[in-house]
Amino acid sequence: MWGFTAMRLIATIAVGLAAGMVAGRPWAGIAIALALQVAWLLTRLYRLDHWLRHRGRMDPPVLHGVWDDIVTQVARLHRRKRHHKQRLATVLRELRESTDALPDGVVALTAQGEIAWFNRAAAQLLRLQGRRDIGIRIDNLIRQPRFVRYLQAGGGTAPLVLQVSEAPEAWLSLHVLPYGEGQRMLLIRDVTRETRLETMRKDFVANASHELRSPLTVISGYLETLATDPATDPAHAPPLAEMRRQAERMAAIIGDLLVLSRLEAKDGQTPGEPVDVAAMLTLLRKEVLARPRHPAQVELAIETQDRLMGDELELHSAFANLVDNAAKYTPEAGRIALRWWSDREGAHFSVADTGPGIPAASIPRLTERFYRVDPGRSRATGGSGLGLSIVKHVLQRHGARLEVVSAEGRGSTFSCHFPPERVLAAAGRPSAMIDTHGNH
Ligand code: ADP
Repeated sequence: MWGFTAMRLIATIAVGLAAGMVAGRPWAGIAIALALQVAWLLTRLYRLDHWLRHRGRMDPPVLHGVWDDIVTQVARLHRRKRHHKQRLATVLRELRESTDALPDGVVALTAQGEIAWFNRAAAQLLRLQGRRDIGIRIDNLIRQPRFVRYLQAGGGTAPLVLQVSEAPEAWLSLHVLPYGEGQRMLLIRDVTRETRLETMRKDFVANASHELRSPLTVISGYLETLATDPATDPAHAPPLAEMRRQAERMAAIIGDLLVLSRLEAKDGQTPGEPVDVAAMLTLLRKEVLARPRHPAQVELAIETQDRLMGDELELHSAFANLVDNAAKYTPEAGRIALRWWSDREGAHFSVADTGPGIPAASIPRLTERFYRVDPGRSRATGGSGLGLSIVKHVLQRHGARLEVVSAEGRGSTFSCHFPPERVLAAAGRPSAMIDTHGNH
């Protein structure tokens, strides 16, 4: 086509030149021919421009030569764009319909925390009112300080459960997830029913334990009187002793249930006060040695005098449970070793024993309530099955984690790892500088 166009231009110039020569003014002939050519080109350009402006309503013009080529290409591009637009609109509609079908609320947030988009469930849960609420900041809508802090921290792995109204009681689980470039997705779920049931369960356990305590105290009292009364038939001594043992076990279970209820009722982490862990462990060791039956070797390694920011009673109950387990499950010929040390990663307490060990499959389940690896053995030792649940809760309240390493037949090591911000370095020795013991 371009060859043809060039030929036509040359032909026009040649005709102009020939006509000019006949008239005796060849240059004027060429100039007139070129002017006509330009005029022709301009009319094509005008028609092309007119069509491009109104192409939605007009058929493509017939312009001949390369112009037709250009018109065809523009028409094809236009068709393709329209097709893509339609497809995009269909995909968007389907996406909107599918997210509207979700039972959970979804809100897309800009990097500034403004609402960019939300689905129907989110509109219902947050009482959003259509397009009007697009662009408003989410922390203007949910103003609770806990949510604002959670949002500022960039959300997290765990959702935040908030009470959003008291009457009628309503609880929402809010989960902020980052995506794209600074944008965030807020997932919202109505957890009113679950939260209410959970509260009822906690209240029930706390009340039942509390109610059971008084009658049990009376029974224990009478059992003790009977056991020590010289008038009691000696034949009744063994069953009485067993009844006292079982009553003690029941009291221990009720006591542990109450401790757990109290721990559960407390929200978030404990700020706490400086706790002298070294002194606490020294005392715990003495208590083990004072038992009528205990492992022959009870070692204690205090490698730091750093103190721990925490709740002394809670920490005592966690450490005592771990030490008690080690002492309980380790035979008299065995050995238990307590260790307290600190390094760059924080402060650590561990109890190692040469007891029966725990099968790998049971380790993740140890902190479940009433979970026992070997129910027979645990009952025989008077265990409540709640000790490690208490340990887990106490550690959670201190931002710490429990690590269990065990080999069946060889023994177990339970370690509590506390973060550096919980460590109060002993005078003159900031804990972060001490790293002579490595990380065991
Ligand atoms: P319990 O009061 O029964 O000891 P815990 O919650 O303290 O309950 O422990 C749960 C279970 O974990 C125990 O029943 C026992 O089977 C197992 N366990 C805990 N500590 C040890 C240990 N040091 N050695 C072996 N088994 C252990």
